[in-house]
Amino acid sequence: MKIAIMGKIHPDGLKIFDENDISNFEIDDFEEINLINKLSDVDGIVIRTANLTSNILSKCNNLKIVSRHGVGFDNVDSKFLSNNNIKLAITGTSNAVSVAEHVMTMILYLTKNIHLSNQLVKSGNFKKKSELPDFFELYKKKILILGFGRIGQELAKRCQGFEMEVMVYDPYISNENIIKKNCSPVEKEQGFKIADYISVHLPLNTNTKNFITYDDFKQFKNNLILINTARGGIINEEALISALNQNTISGVGLDVYETEPPIQDHPLFDQDKALLTPHNAALTLESRKRMSIEACENVYYFLKNNKKLNEKNFII
Ligand code: NAD
Repeated sequence: MKIAIMGKIHPDGLKIFDENDISNFEIDDFEEINLINKLSDVDGIVIRTANLTSNILSKCNNLKIVSRHGVGFDNVDSKFLSNNNIKLAITGTSNAVSVAEHVMTMILYLTKNIHLSNQLVKSGNFKKKSELPDFFELYKKKILILGFGRIGQELAKRCQGFEMEVMVYDPYISNENIIKKNCSPVEKEQGFKIADYISVHLPLNTNTKNFITYDDFKQFKNNLILINTARGGIINEEALISALNQNTISGVGLDVYETEPPIQDHPLFDQDKALLTPHNAALTLESRKRMSIEACENVYYFLKNNKKLNEKNFII
């Protein structure tokens, strides 16, 4: 048995291969030609964010499973896997808490502008605190969560801890289940008009690309703080930049971009109202360890046909 690890992962996950004498090797050059060369005889692939196209996959003659270190799988040609009876697994129980905490951090930073208070004190201007711009409470504010899966639900609990009103748009989850979690189901258009915060937790696919675009920005309240830690392209970036330039929303927190890394001199880099992180919402040490262990276990237990397999992790 031979396993390829595409991208560096926490060593804790690799123990299961090493302890069971399963050959494994890391790949850090993701050029197509190198991948075709290295992956031709592997039984399983653990993959971080590199792309696995149908052209590469069609040259993998032994492949039985692709295991994502993470939950989004838009970097893998899942249609090809499905057509060729190759399994696709994710690490469904590993990273939701880290991402939800990242969203709370962005919400608090953008609401409290705490960095300005910090700068004020450190520059010897303590007495000028009345010159700081207004900052706000989360108490009783309305947040709209788009997508009520693993991360959306973890975020809801944290917002409720701050006594926010949590609205949810997710047509694939019953109203009854949303209400059970003390949240209010809303239609997208209604939520867009009344939300003080919107946080995106949708998968990227043909239905969700440009889910928020020019016309939607016209509906938002102008104190809106918008957060996207899901995938770039769900919010149309040009429409977002134009809304920030015209002050039609109050701020944005982004962990993900239409192109990653974003181009040099990206217009968002000059935006004071934009808080940007490098697609690392899930990358706390705790979550990295869990994702590494779960991604490797998915491969090991599947190939060994072991009953410890977590069926919920298998997309295909
Ligand atoms: P999930 O599959 O548990 O939840 C997604 C939810 O979106 C589901 O409840 C689904 O019903 C809903 N949904 C799908 N299409 C919809 C639509 N058109 N309208 C409304 N709702 C829709 O996924 P998750 O674990 O919560 O992760 C969400 C996304 O976050 C992932 O797909 C991934 O792309 C992204 N993510 C990013 C990071 C990061 O590091 N920034 C880490 C983990 C996940």
